[in-house]
Parts: sequence; structure tokens; C-alpha cells
Amino acid sequence: MTSVALVDQHGRVATDLRISLTDRCNLRCTYCMPPEGLPWLPGPSLLTDDEVVRLARVAMERLDVNEIRYTGGEPLLRPGLVKIIEGSSELRPRPRLSLTTNAIGLARLAEPLAAAGLDRVNISIDTLDEAEFEKLAYRRRLADTLAGIRAAAAAGLTPVKLNAVLIRGVNDSHPERLLEWSLEHGYELRFIEQMPLDAQHQWDREQMVTADEIFEKLSQRHELTPDPEHRGSAPAETWLVDGGPAKVGIIGSVTRPFCGACDRTRLTADGQVRSCLFSREESDLREAMRSGASDEELADRWRVAMWGKLPGHGINDPRFLQPARPMSAIGG
Ligand code: SAM
Ligand code: SF4
Repeated sequence: MTSVALVDQHGRVATDLRISLTDRCNLRCTYCMPPEGLPWLPGPSLLTDDEVVRLARVAMERLDVNEIRYTGGEPLLRPGLVKIIEGSSELRPRPRLSLTTNAIGLARLAEPLAAAGLDRVNISIDTLDEAEFEKLAYRRRLADTLAGIRAAAAAGLTPVKLNAVLIRGVNDSHPERLLEWSLEHGYELRFIEQMPLDAQHQWDREQMVTADEIFEKLSQRHELTPDPEHRGSAPAETWLVDGGPAKVGIIGSVTRPFCGACDRTRLTADGQVRSCLFSREESDLREAMRSGASDEELADRWRVAMWGKLPGHGINDPRFLQPARPMSAIGG
């Protein structure tokens, strides 16, 4: 390993860091968490705000990371979020800073987050129908999510990108409604195939709404043509809607894996480096840090963890084993 960057044995370089700030959530999306919730990580095991910013600094200064996305669980539930964003925006080089959120509470937090230096948000919204929302997320919070989306746009956290997961028999019958509404308001929508990362281990390949199906359904109402701007390392295949400039993304994480172009590295809320969402191994930076490791020692551990990144997620291999942690505890 000669490079200082986060390279792996397959030639990929990770420059995009996802940091989970909590495993807790105020929704219970069926593809992520059971209705009764999960045993949450104990408080002392979570990185403190200062520890989060220190690791972000190590990534920026020593590992050539250039983008940080905070996620969870629900990151808006993290009391120190504004402070963490503020600290991250003071790093040099300055990372691009974004947040993946269900937007509940964003109506109040969008302005302070923008003032603290947040650049953008990715908001998850699977339906515009209150009954479907409740069926999917076990909570009646659609109005809060919608208010959060509006507040994000008003605060300049743009482009506002929206993520939607389709679940067969619940919200898959009219995906064009979400698309048309998104285009009307200037939001960038991406549909994501459901992955085997639910805590309940109920993912079923036969039930998954595939990228091809989503494409077919949208095509019944709109003409979709390939976006000439190539997808690069971005996972979404983007399509021009009715000739453009409007676009829609479809992320075929399972049926069209993009692992060969992956540029992600992940840090869990309790300070474990994961080279992939589907890793079955983690590298503990929290205990190293609390035992007095220097910045360069932390960077080295991080490099070693990424060097061993597997070439692909293996979901389509019959020997595939779901990781022990669910999506909410990894950071999506
Ligand atoms: N709570 C925030 C949210 O929902 O945006 C951030 C964390 S959530 C785990 C991040 C993203 O992961 C969301 O867009 C969610 O839809 C997606 N997600 C969760 N479980 C998934 C699964 N099994 N398959 C595909 N996407 C999933
Ligand atoms: Fe919460 Fe996000 Fe998981 Fe839904 S997908 S339960 S909002 S962490």
C-alpha cells in the first residue's frame, strides 16, 4: 500500500464517506426495522460529537475523502447534529456535506443546518398517500416529511434529492405519481431496489420490485431515454423524462450491482469502519481512538480495513449471508 488514499485490492478508491450518527429512528419502515424497534446501541458506545468530527478530519486530511454524508438511523434525532455539521464545515479541505433523512423535524432544523454549513439533503419518501405511508412506516408522519422537504428547499439545501423504495402490494402501483409530483416541485427522485438489509430478515427476491419493473411502470406514462451524462460512480442510472431536462434515477442495487465503481467508505455510529453495506467485518476506530491512537494510526487502520473490501456485495451468490447489523445500524 503506497497510496495514502483509501484504495482496495481491486483498484477502487473510496472518497465518499457515510457516517451514521445514531441507530435510532422515529419511523419503522418495514424494509428496515421491525414495528417494535430494535435494541439500540448503548449511549457510551456511540462516538461523541467531537469524536465524529475528529474521524471526519482524519478522513479529509489523510485519506483523500472529499464528501461526507451523515445518516442513520435518523440523523435528525442526534442532539449534536448542528454542532457536528458546523465542525465538519470547518475542515480543510472542506468536504461536500449532505444528510440522508426522513425529514421529520427538518421543518425546524433546515435553516440552522444550512447556516452550519450543510450543502444538501437526500430525503426518503416512498409515497404521497397517508394510508400507504402508515402501512410502510408504522407511523402517521407523512405531513411532517412533506413539511421537511419544503423547508429543505426553502433553506437552499439543494438540489433536494428524494429516495423511494417500492414494496409490492403497498406503494408499487403508481410510482409515476411520486415522479410527477417531484418534477413539479423541482426535486430529483431516485427509486431504489429493496436490499436484504432489514432487521427481520424478511427480504424476498421474488417480492422485490426490480429496476426493470420500475422502468416499465414509469414508461407507461412517460418516455424515458438514457441520460447522456454517464453515471460514473453514482449508483443511480438516470433517465431523461419526456426528453428532459427532467430526470429520474433508478438504483438497481440488486439486479444491476455497481460494486465495480463503488467509492464509499462507512463509519457506524459506534465507530466501526465498514468497507461495504454488506461487510461482515468491521474495524474498530472508537476503541483505538479512546486508547490514545494518533491520527496517523487511525488513518492506517482505516486504510487496512478498506484494502480488504470485497469485489462485490454477493447478494446474487447462493452462499450470500446478510450482515449481522441491519441497515438502520449500519447507516444507509
Ligand atoms: N432515516 C434516514 C432515511 O430514511 O433517509 C436515513 C437512514 S435510511 C437507513 C437511508 C436510506 O436507506 C433510506 O433512503 C431508506 O429508504 C434506505 N433503505 C433502508 N432499508 C433499505 C433496504 N432494505 N433496501 C433498500 N434501501 C433501504
Ligand atoms: Fe428509519 Fe430511515 Fe430505516 Fe425508515 S429507512 S426506519 S426512516 S432509518
